[in-house]
Amino acid sequence: MDSSGPLDLRCGRCGATVDGTRHTRTGYVVGYYLLRTGRTEDASVRRRDDEAPITYRRVLEPVDVVSCPRCFDEPEVRRLWLGFGDQR
Ligand SMILES: [Zn+2]
Repeated sequence: MDSSGPLDLRCGRCGATVDGTRHTRTGYVVGYYLLRTGRTEDASVRRRDDEAPITYRRVLEPVDVVSCPRCFDEPEVRRLWLGFGDQR
């Protein structure tokens, strides 16, 4: 069997082909970072007519953003990453 696989991930910023995480004797090398993001909107549900509606953030278009380690060090990517992880 060909083990090279159909995996063809590219960095969403610079377009470089990225490898998966490689394990070495001393640890591992992260080949790429994956950030799940997307456009969101406020949506609300009301379970019963006499209850206040619950507002939540609905993801409209989930997008997987791949970043190579070099771009991940860029401040703009770092900000996007941290901003997304900071949602409450
Ligand atoms: Zn890149």
